[in-house]
Amino acid sequence: MASAPEEQLLRQLIMDRLAERTVHNGGFVTRAELSAFEVAGVTRRLIDTSKGIWNPRDLMATLSIVSSPEGPYQDREVEGGLFHYDYRAGSLAGDNTKLRRAAELGLPLILLRKIAAGTYVPVFPVYVVDDDQAARQFVIALDESVRFMPKPAEWTEDQRRYAERIVRQRLHQPEFRGRVIRAYATRCTVCSLRHGELLDAAHIVADAEDGGLPIVTNGLSLCKIHHGAYDAQLLGISPDYRVHIDRDLLVEVDGPMLRHGLQDMHGKTLELPGRRSDWPDRDRLAARFERFGQTA
Ligand SMILES: [Zn+2]
Repeated sequence: MASAPEEQLLRQLIMDRLAERTVHNGGFVTRAELSAFEVAGVTRRLIDTSKGIWNPRDLMATLSIVSSPEGPYQDREVEGGLFHYDYRAGSLAGDNTKLRRAAELGLPLILLRKIAAGTYVPVFPVYVVDDDQAARQFVIALDESVRFMPKPAEWTEDQRRYAERIVRQRLHQPEFRGRVIRAYATRCTVCSLRHGELLDAAHIVADAEDGGLPIVTNGLSLCKIHHGAYDAQLLGISPDYRVHIDRDLLVEVDGPMLRHGLQDMHGKTLELPGRRSDWPDRDRLAARFERFGQTA
């Protein structure tokens, strides 16, 4: 077995590769990918075959934990900016021992949020910061900065708000992205570009507004250029799923990006998700399109 600093390095390597794979896919990884993951020429397993806690034999501490959020609305695992992970049923020992070991050694681990069957949004590095034996839960910091904050009981109002913002950034926004881009099979709904690195999950109704929920039907998988154009009201999407390009932009003369990337998209029908229940909500599209109509 390696020493703690060596293991720290190996975990870093695993997480660097996992970051690349996740970005490439558009914000998620599959169970098949996690079950045979290549790191520095070695094929490793990054998820247990059946349990939520994965303790590889050659590592000192837990490498990953799985959590299955019930939906984007409620998240019973998150409270006051911290993530609470239930002990594995049974004794205090067993699989939990190596999770406790991660806390003692300060080793980073991977939180795998299951967004659909065999599909996960990995969140990392996360740290076990407390072992609440009374509640039979581990307390997980979702960010290095939260790890070094005082005990939650001593947090100021500002620190609590900060921790809640970290939860949004590290958990809920990536999950929205993963769900939306997966629904669209890692494709831009306007131009069908298939590069996860170049795709965003755009909100139809902004999250600060009424109805701006982080759900797939309030999302669109858009490439960077079409997301930018949508937000700048240079591209509109009507409730009948048609693409509209701003009138002034349509008559402008410029290079191939304007011509093929934007003007040629005018009148096109969106490439919609395979599952009808994932299609963008018409009422939300209509509300958003009204604003485009005012400027076009
Ligand atoms: Zn596009």
